[in-house]
Amino acid sequence: MRTISLYDTRERRVRPLEPRDPGKVGIYACGPTVYSRIHVGNARPFVVFSQFKRFLEHEGYDATLVANITDINDKIYDAARAAGRDSAGLAAEMAGHYLADTERLGLGRPDHEPLASDFIEPIIDLIGALVERGHAYPAGGDVYFRVRTLPEYGELSRRDVEQMDQGEGVEGAALKEDPLDFALWKAHKEGEDTSWDSPWGRGRPGWHIECSAMAEELLGLEFDIHGGGIDLVFPHHENEAAQTLAGRGRPLARLWMHNGMLEASEGEKMAKSVGNIRGLAEVLDDVGPEALLLYFSGGHYRQPIAFSPERLDAAVNGIRRIREAGRRLREGDSPDALAGHRDAFFDALADDFNTAKALPALYDWIRAAPDGTGDSHLREMLGVLGLERLLEAGEAAPPALQELAARRERARADRDWAEADRLRDELRDMGWEVRDGPQGPELVPAA
Ligand SMILES: [Zn+2]
Repeated sequence: MRTISLYDTRERRVRPLEPRDPGKVGIYACGPTVYSRIHVGNARPFVVFSQFKRFLEHEGYDATLVANITDINDKIYDAARAAGRDSAGLAAEMAGHYLADTERLGLGRPDHEPLASDFIEPIIDLIGALVERGHAYPAGGDVYFRVRTLPEYGELSRRDVEQMDQGEGVEGAALKEDPLDFALWKAHKEGEDTSWDSPWGRGRPGWHIECSAMAEELLGLEFDIHGGGIDLVFPHHENEAAQTLAGRGRPLARLWMHNGMLEASEGEKMAKSVGNIRGLAEVLDDVGPEALLLYFSGGHYRQPIAFSPERLDAAVNGIRRIREAGRRLREGDSPDALAGHRDAFFDALADDFNTAKALPALYDWIRAAPDGTGDSHLREMLGVLGLERLLEAGEAAPPALQELAARRERARADRDWAEADRLRDELRDMGWEVRDGPQGPELVPAA
């Protein structure tokens, strides 16, 4: 088992992962708020934490990944109102799309994908503990967290108090003892169509408390890694950490791991407000899941990554190279002579999960492997990235295309090169390529 190090946002340094329970690693990664279809940027944390879980398993850990689905939130009420429909129905439909779209990545599912609406009881229990300990107060049917009662507040995001805008706008401003305070429970309002009973009246939870309660329920306190996009550090994660520490007297998580944002192009934010969003489903239709996974893996998870045509093309080419390598290898054990490249790949992942540094080692392995080499090392490396499927024998081409390929062979035999080229292009347009294999020409999916 390698020592795995990760950058801890809270401590601002790379440090060894020291699991709470030896051999086990629990991860909670904040998932989407389901008010619309997810965009390709939302897929980054899903990919990073799914791949990281695969790496932990490769290293022999028993890893549990929790990725929540926020189905109670102001954004959902707003979107439902704008669409003239009920919020629960909208959230259920968008959660369904999220599951289907991410399923297409072929990484499998997280171990738990809790819905906030299924955890109202633990949420109310945690708010009750905060009120009881004096860290929270009811006001006008809402309940607010009293930020200044917790000296540790701000340790995760390291912001000045002046920069701690909770983003709650004017809502509840008159009810708060201090503008720094944030909502744990919100009283039911006209026009909101979901609400639950609580000791403070009918209402619904705030966003931050949902994650604190679900993470505690599913992973226990002081679990190993809390993750999510870097944009969540403040206020969401600062508040999650505060709620649990204040309510339970123990930290929520031992290490905080954040992924960088996806940019529309170098330095340009991808955001709905800018209008440069690309839907995940649309991108999967364009380039396929394999190229998208390789594209994400080409950047270090903590860095921003530009969604540029150049980077996507490079990923598509990379997939072609790996598929080609797979065709000239055989299934079986790889020779020890190539183990150095394989080890360099996994060593890079052990050092703050540096997929960008690991990939060149994978290509080095491919370059160094003679035809007919056993593919076990490559299979192992691709498995962690969720790309082992590239080594599976391609599905057979449909009979109509086999017929086109046969006609092309006859054209070539007749030295009718123009017709042969035309048929080759026609096949290419359908996504297939003719390759000369050991048993003569064969049809393979074009990368
Ligand atoms: Zn969260």
